[in-house]
Amino acid sequence: MSSDTILRQQMVDIGKRMYERGLIVATDGNLSVRLAPERFLVTPSGMCKGTLSPQDLLVVDIGGRQMEGRGRPTSEIAMHLCAYRERPDVRAVIHAHPPFVVACTVAGLSLSRFSLPEAIYSLGTIPTVPYATPGTDAGAAVIAGAIREHDVLILPYHGSLTVGKDLEEAFQKLEQLEHVAKILVTARQVGEPLPLPRAEVARLFRLAGRKPSFAPGILSRKTEKTAAAPRVVRPFPSLLLGPFSLAGRCLRSFSLFSLESAARVVKAEMKVVRECLQRLQ
Ligand SMILES: [Zn+2]
Repeated sequence: MSSDTILRQQMVDIGKRMYERGLIVATDGNLSVRLAPERFLVTPSGMCKGTLSPQDLLVVDIGGRQMEGRGRPTSEIAMHLCAYRERPDVRAVIHAHPPFVVACTVAGLSLSRFSLPEAIYSLGTIPTVPYATPGTDAGAAVIAGAIREHDVLILPYHGSLTVGKDLEEAFQKLEQLEHVAKILVTARQVGEPLPLPRAEVARLFRLAGRKPSFAPGILSRKTEKTAAAPRVVRPFPSLLLGPFSLAGRCLRSFSLFSLESAARVVKAEMKVVRECLQRLQ
């Protein structure tokens, strides 16, 4: 089997996986792979990527001129070619509309700010590029700078762009990106997400062999709280635990923290007790 045939089948299979995982719907999304330095296999415009056949795919050159295939190349061809021009090492590009990722941009949440250790290892910083109308030259231009340094980009109100040494790697980055966004959205539903401390983020970047970076993203919160900051949990049953338990917690706080932070814990605990008493009245 020729490498062209293998790549065509791979693109069909990954389009199907993207569709089945809900990372694209209807005729959304597009994929491409580098066949030669200036020759690319791309998905067609206006077709569902979950039901493609190998013969539906087209070949274009670095200028976007169609060399093989029927129909029209993807409307995002300029964005794909921009990624290949900026990154000679990249052999595959995937653009998708992962719903949790897009939801985060609509809600103004930055995935860079709330990154997770595994995501830092495998994806690094996840920048959000400025908004541009999809399918236009401006849409391609906005990724030019960021794609030089990153394999994963978020397109606000729109979707994602992931690149890799092959289609499988670009797809796995897309999956991981959506997984991180899903965790963040879930965290918002059960509480207030707290970013890891900057020092820990920097350490993870060092361990991953990546350049520490706090890429610009859309930030909705001005809070400087982090996961390591002292935080008083306020469970209602706090009062039910009784004064002995409360005293124990206060005593433990003396041994764990400085006198000043222990005083803060005691003060906060007393506030919880007062609030519970008010609720009981
Ligand atoms: Zn799109």
